[in-house]
Amino acid sequence: MKPKRSEKMFKRASKNLVGAVNSPARAFGAVGGKPLFIKQAKGSKITDVDGNEYIDFVLSYGPMILGHGHLYVQRQVRKALKHGYSFGATSAPEIKLAKMICGVFPGMEKIRFVNSGTEAVLSALRLARAYTGKTKIIKFSGCYHGHVDALLVAAGSGLATLSLPGSAGVPESSVQGTLIAHYNDLDSVKAHFETHDDIAGVIIEPIAGNMGVVVPQDNFMKDLQSYVSSQSALLIADEVMSGFRAHYGGTQELLGVQADITCLGKVIGGGFPVGAYGARAEIMDKVAPLGDVYQAGTFSGNPISMSAGIATLRALKRQNPFDTFNETAKTLEDALKQSARRYKVDIAINRYGSMITPFFTKGSVSNFQHAQAADTQRYARFFWAMINNGIFLPPSQFEAWFLSSALTKTDIAKTINAIDIAMQEVARI
Ligand SMILES: *Cc1c(COP(=O)(O)O)cnc(C)c1O
Repeated sequence: MKPKRSEKMFKRASKNLVGAVNSPARAFGAVGGKPLFIKQAKGSKITDVDGNEYIDFVLSYGPMILGHGHLYVQRQVRKALKHGYSFGATSAPEIKLAKMICGVFPGMEKIRFVNSGTEAVLSALRLARAYTGKTKIIKFSGCYHGHVDALLVAAGSGLATLSLPGSAGVPESSVQGTLIAHYNDLDSVKAHFETHDDIAGVIIEPIAGNMGVVVPQDNFMKDLQSYVSSQSALLIADEVMSGFRAHYGGTQELLGVQADITCLGKVIGGGFPVGAYGARAEIMDKVAPLGDVYQAGTFSGNPISMSAGIATLRALKRQNPFDTFNETAKTLEDALKQSARRYKVDIAINRYGSMITPFFTKGSVSNFQHAQAADTQRYARFFWAMINNGIFLPPSQFEAWFLSSALTKTDIAKTINAIDIAMQEVARI
């Protein structure tokens, strides 16, 4: 790897961009070293400004489920561009995408498009509070819901039940109404309801992806839904990451649950900025202009994002890559386990649909505390060894690797080769 151009670009970028990036994970802080600067991406591959090509398992942190530059999506976006890019009035693609999404999320009769997952979540919280007339929100440690003030709460094991701001600039008053529960632990939810009488809702990633992949065990999601509903609070499913990952629709359906409000983003914009929240009509009709919950946006329902979303979902439906995702993820899991055994490295692997995370730890990972026990130095070593062997992984132990339907058999074989080399390096520390 010759990092010449990247180095120059890093210097230039650092002048006017904070830390040379526009989103902190991109700075590679968790793995050390300089970030990649990207020139282009096509199909399963991404190329940096020095011309190094990598098989891409970051996929823009999830949206590029078809791989990069999918031709049908490009064609549809180009067509849409000809008709104008932003109107400040409703256009046909919004109606179309709304219908496509509501059609596959049982219990979602209406949807509101916004511009990011963060915006979807903050609007969903506002709506939940307005609908229930209560104020407090329960979130789970290790779940990420965008950079909403109220949800940026320190969730480390020692502080897990205290509501302390996890970011400078977030006033304590913003997080006072946020209660922290533990993933896969219904009792931790019940404990809050027993001591607080003004809980509006419980927000959860039904498949967690932001502490690395963590899946709900046994009937956790079902039990959570019935308990929350018995307390007259709303269940908010944050499917910004998990939506359209394991089948054509939400994970709720596969888990046998139906949230009151669902948040979406990432895949439904096909790589263009988007977010959305939806619910049954009775709840959504609380939102302005029908109701008194104010929520607006200059670019909301942007026709280019909508067209990219429609094209992506159509292609996804046609391809139906979900069995292949499972098989590929299983193949990667087997390869990781085999190499780990060969070089005596402790590893635990969680996966769901097109998301997979190997944790460098002993024992299983079913909550944030377990995830945090993982050896992040080992992950960093693994990450750089993979980069050096042409594989781009998320630059943190606590992120999901994503699979795209553009991955080829050769890509997988190369990845498995690289895994074995990287694991051997990990065993040295
Ligand atoms: C990415 C993500 C968000 C935030 O979405 P942005 O578009 O980055 O604002 C919220 N929730 C979950 C589960 C996510 O994965």
